[in-house]
Amino acid sequence: MGKCTKKTAAPAQPLRITEARDVLSEQLSLLDPPRFWSKVDSSGGQHVCWPWLGSITLSNGYGQHPGVSPLTGRPTMRAAHRCALEIATRSVLPPAVRVLHAKGCSKLCCNPKHLRPGTAAENTADARRDGALRGKRLDADRVRKLLGLHQAGVTRESLADRFGVSLVTVHSILTGRTWSNISGIEFAGPRKGGRPRKPKVAKPTMEQRRQRVQEALS
Ligand SMILES: [Zn+2]
Repeated sequence: MGKCTKKTAAPAQPLRITEARDVLSEQLSLLDPPRFWSKVDSSGGQHVCWPWLGSITLSNGYGQHPGVSPLTGRPTMRAAHRCALEIATRSVLPPAVRVLHAKGCSKLCCNPKHLRPGTAAENTADARRDGALRGKRLDADRVRKLLGLHQAGVTRESLADRFGVSLVTVHSILTGRTWSNISGIEFAGPRKGGRPRKPKVAKPTMEQRRQRVQEALS
């Protein structure tokens, strides 16, 4: 077997596998997965949306979570749903890869089962689809009606069905995250080290429920 003596010009050194693995695990650990998941309400189980309870980027309405930029390696706020997919799949996605939500999902959903990597073009197509659907669904009157039905004891699932919105949207309204100007509910934010607080509502009797549903529908 001949010994290869030919020298090639040293290429721009790509990371060796072990180095790449170190960078990856460092980037993932900087996302602080336990802290990340403490800001996600996964209490509904695997098959429903997991609303993000932490802070939101005002410019685009996505959840945000501290991490490091894959481009510069500097600390920065990163999109929460992106962090969710990265932590769940133990991979750091290249910046050109977008993280897309399943149909009917809210921007705040962090259930990895509802997230998939995609292209910018797919992202735009999804946004157009969701925008077209959303625009018609809720206005102040419909939100008032939804709140009335909730008071009357109608479940979140039926509210989502009835108003053609996602469970996250219903959850956001009932926790005061959105439409608080109509509901007057103050958003409490995530509670440290546990499940998010539920707004306290006295349980109405069946008779009261029936009556309130009638009233809310009339
Ligand atoms: Zn979802």
